[in-house]
Amino acid sequence: MGKPKIVVLGAGYAGMMTTKRLMQKLRPEEAELVLVNKHNYHYQTTWLHEVAAGTVNQNQARMMISDVINPNRVSLIYDEVVEVKKDANRVVLKNSEITYDYLVISLGFETNTFGIKGMEKNAFSITDIESSRMIREHIEYQFAKYSTSDKKNDDDLTILVGGGGFTGIEFVGELAEKVPELCKKYDIDRSKARIINVEAAPRILPGFNEDLVAYAKKSLQDRGVEIREGAKISECKKNSFVIGEGDETEEIKAGTIVWTGGVTGNSILSKSGFEITKGKVTVEGDMRAPGEDNIFILGDCAWVMNKEEGRPFPPTAQAAMQHADTCSSNLKALLHGGPLEDFVFDDKGTVASLGEKDAMGTVFDDHLLYGTSATAMKKVIDNRYLFLLGGPKLILKKGKLRMI
Ligand code: FAD
Ligand code: NAD
Repeated sequence: MGKPKIVVLGAGYAGMMTTKRLMQKLRPEEAELVLVNKHNYHYQTTWLHEVAAGTVNQNQARMMISDVINPNRVSLIYDEVVEVKKDANRVVLKNSEITYDYLVISLGFETNTFGIKGMEKNAFSITDIESSRMIREHIEYQFAKYSTSDKKNDDDLTILVGGGGFTGIEFVGELAEKVPELCKKYDIDRSKARIINVEAAPRILPGFNEDLVAYAKKSLQDRGVEIREGAKISECKKNSFVIGEGDETEEIKAGTIVWTGGVTGNSILSKSGFEITKGKVTVEGDMRAPGEDNIFILGDCAWVMNKEEGRPFPPTAQAAMQHADTCSSNLKALLHGGPLEDFVFDDKGTVASLGEKDAMGTVFDDHLLYGTSATAMKKVIDNRYLFLLGGPKLILKKGKLRMI
């Protein structure tokens, strides 16, 4: 009999770390490892808002997969997953099919527009390198066009961001630094360019520490970001958001519209017949899909229940990397007939950037961080991931080395 074949789908935080851990935990003769990804590069999803604003170059936010995963040890397949035929242990790719003995599904998230009229068609979203690059280019085009146009329309310089969760807030933080640069480059009066964040809940970052939210709000407003809270977007037109419903509507016009109002699991899950709750699979404690002995589901594709609070843990890169640890240990246990372990979340806190020079968050049991110390911590978190993936060499190549 040949070696058991472990196939990992998706080279994001969960997929890359699972593959890395399997390379460390298993000897080459113990299992054949295969990693499938749409592109030949891995990108840091947590930096996409910076790529979209143009404050980080897209090439800094991505790396060739073969630079960090040894292709002599792991078969790398660059193709798009179309469907998992779980009853036949097969994965259908755009250009071929592969079989597996054990499968890890870590295909990340898709944007969720909740069926809001016109949103999918008219708004950009921050989902991957390409979609983020398009936003950066569109914003720059708006500024360039305005500067050379005879009939200037100030609305072209407005950037509307729908959704004031962490992605929306981190994105407007970057824009607060980029927009003054663009104004200078294209000789535009800064007061003409508006950055507006629109949030349905009574305040941005719903559920997050009130003091930190107040700090974030002030920091952003001081740098010219307009924040609209309690403002539910009901429609997205070609160049505007409609807020509210019925007779009480308001329209805000803009030249750039970005939706950061929600995410859901990859639609491959439902296409492949998994039982879905709000776009994701609620996994067992050992990270396997219910009723599937040989399929693990990780990262943004999985709901992992916080049993104490009776609701799932938030989908984050921090959690995705920890899913990878549990999954790789359990795959080793399955190969050797050992007991499987349950996932235990080690919450290291949440730190959000507000541009390159400001940040806020909680670390180590709810210790609050603001300003310079939060900014430095955010960079430590980013660089730590690069260290885990590729050691000090990768930090030097792709890391954020200017600490504050
Ligand atoms: P991803 O990292 O998104 O990787 C999915 C991979 O699957 C990608 O390589 C993709 O190309 C590939 N793929 C998708 N579909 C297919 C297909 N059909 N075929 C083949 N390959 C496919 N979390 C934090 O903890 N801290 C943060 O600071 C933070 N900041 C964020 C900032 C932004 C702008 C965003 C959008 C999210 C942020 N998050 C943050 C959340 C975090 O990025 C996600 O929770 C994390 O990326 C999930 O990891 P993953 O491996 O499940 O998916
Ligand atoms: P989210 O779901 O956390 O936030 C979306 C926001 O959009 C919510 O505040 C919601 O109220 C708002 N919204 C929804 N419908 C709306 C409407 N019709 N009109 C106006 N506002 C509307 O999504 P996200 O911000 O993309 O975050 C996704 C995940 O990634 C979360 O788990 C988050 O914690 C994680 N993340 C973490 C960080 C960090 O740790 N620094 C950064 C980015 C994202």
